[in-house]
Amino acid sequence: MSIDVYISAERIQSRIREMAEEIDRWIGGGEVLCVANLKGSFVFFADLVRCLKSSRLKVDFIATESYVGTQSSGQVRILKDLQQTCRGEKLLVVEDIVDTGLTLSKVLEHFVTMHCPAEMRVATLLDKPSRRKVEMKADFVGFTIEDAFVVGYGLDYNEYYRNLPYIGILRNTEER
Ligand code: 5GP
Repeated sequence: MSIDVYISAERIQSRIREMAEEIDRWIGGGEVLCVANLKGSFVFFADLVRCLKSSRLKVDFIATESYVGTQSSGQVRILKDLQQTCRGEKLLVVEDIVDTGLTLSKVLEHFVTMHCPAEMRVATLLDKPSRRKVEMKADFVGFTIEDAFVVGYGLDYNEYYRNLPYIGILRNTEER
């Protein structure tokens, strides 16, 4: 198994600063709840929120799990919900990657039905549009990538490689 650097740590940090400027314009200096979907987004989330300027920024976490069985579409379950309400507030959902779109679709449906935010936007570090099973579009996208299995910067392979400071492509694995 080998890992090729796909997006360097420097490119990631520079793109995050650009994304933060766009997101700041949407926040407008007011109240916002930023929510990381664990575990994959934890590194991106930590870097992103430190680039955002609002002094009325709160953070919270959800966790999801997807089951991909014999059916073509995986089932997504919310394992951990928010610890606070965001009714009537601006909500920024932070994802590591949008692949089939099934996770994001479930997360957005969950927020709309259970938490009623006033406005909701999605920031994802990576977007893999070629593998979509449901139509999903993030509002703020770091990098649009090819159909490859990536690791690092929070993303794992069997729970390993999350600590890499860059995004790498894992070669010689058949697991998807
Ligand atoms: P989706 O529901 O959009 O298919 O995928 C969501 C989740 O699948 C992501 O949050 C991530 O945990 C995982 N995932 C999708 N593509 C990749 C990838 O290329 N590498 C890794 N490590 N995880 C991925």
